[in-house]
Amino acid sequence: MKEALYWEVKEKDVVQCLLCPKLCVIKEGGKGQCHVRQNIKGKLYSMVYGKPCAIAVDPIEKKPLYHFLPGSTAFSVGTIGCNLHCRFCQNWETSQAYPEDFEFKDVSPDEIVKQAKKSGCESIAYTYNDPVVFYEYALDIAKKAKGLRNIIVCNGFINQEPLKEWCKHIDAANIDLKAFDDKFYRENTTAWLNPILESLKTIKKMGVWLEITNLIIPGLNDDMKKIKKMCAWIFENLGSDVPLHFTAFYPCYQMMDTPRTPAVTLMEAMKVALRAGLNYVYVGNVDPGEGSNTYCPKSKKLAVSRYGFSILQNHIKEGRCNGERIAGVWK
Ligand code: SF4
Repeated sequence: MKEALYWEVKEKDVVQCLLCPKLCVIKEGGKGQCHVRQNIKGKLYSMVYGKPCAIAVDPIEKKPLYHFLPGSTAFSVGTIGCNLHCRFCQNWETSQAYPEDFEFKDVSPDEIVKQAKKSGCESIAYTYNDPVVFYEYALDIAKKAKGLRNIIVCNGFINQEPLKEWCKHIDAANIDLKAFDDKFYRENTTAWLNPILESLKTIKKMGVWLEITNLIIPGLNDDMKKIKKMCAWIFENLGSDVPLHFTAFYPCYQMMDTPRTPAVTLMEAMKVALRAGLNYVYVGNVDPGEGSNTYCPKSKKLAVSRYGFSILQNHIKEGRCNGERIAGVWK
């Protein structure tokens, strides 16, 4: 465990965590809503620092990041805990766990960097559970990872001050924008929308390569009018070059009775996003087809073709395909 960043004393033996907008007030011995930040004798500690529960080498396309070093691998690290409690969480066994339920092997930031370099990965990804709750660990690794890129796969529910500090040390982010609907967020995730929109703007403004994932759940956030509004907001606030990934829900956790997202819904969302002016729109978690290819927004020619997490063809050279610029980080 390590003393946390971003907290203050409220009164004797009571602290307030300032890392995410939940601003948990935590009594002596208690934990925050993420289960992994604990008040011990009047100080806030991260209980997951140096304690990964998952380490793997993944294709970067799995994050998903389609416009960032395509075909490379990311040394992927996750712990337990999450500051959100989504009814549809696909990693709930770890994200909703408590530290006392797991036996951890300590892995220092130096060791993570060493293993990442040895694996031949070009980047380290903070992923699987939400890296907001292992902020201190992820930040220390990123600071030490000279020669490697750093990636967060994140819900974006973090306060501005820690986010701005984080952005100085990361190169790319895939942020979940779970719906463009505050009610949806409050009823299904325990978070709320506005801080996530602010995070997206900050990440973009600070020059971190940004892609967005929107998981579409039948009957909950598949209203095309709201998807249209979301795309218009992205276009207006982040620009047309931010890739948007629509992904399919499958029954899990507290939503076992909700059906899978039909591919046709994702394709409809894709059309809405393209009509809204977004240049790079993808569909995932379904039979890939053309929904996972990158096309030049000007010439409409194929720039990158993918199958699942594999690159079949890549016509981008020095950021250009047939002379036209394709937004992204290509080397
Ligand atoms: S990071 Fe955890 S402890 Fe801190 S405010 Fe968010 S949920 Fe609460």
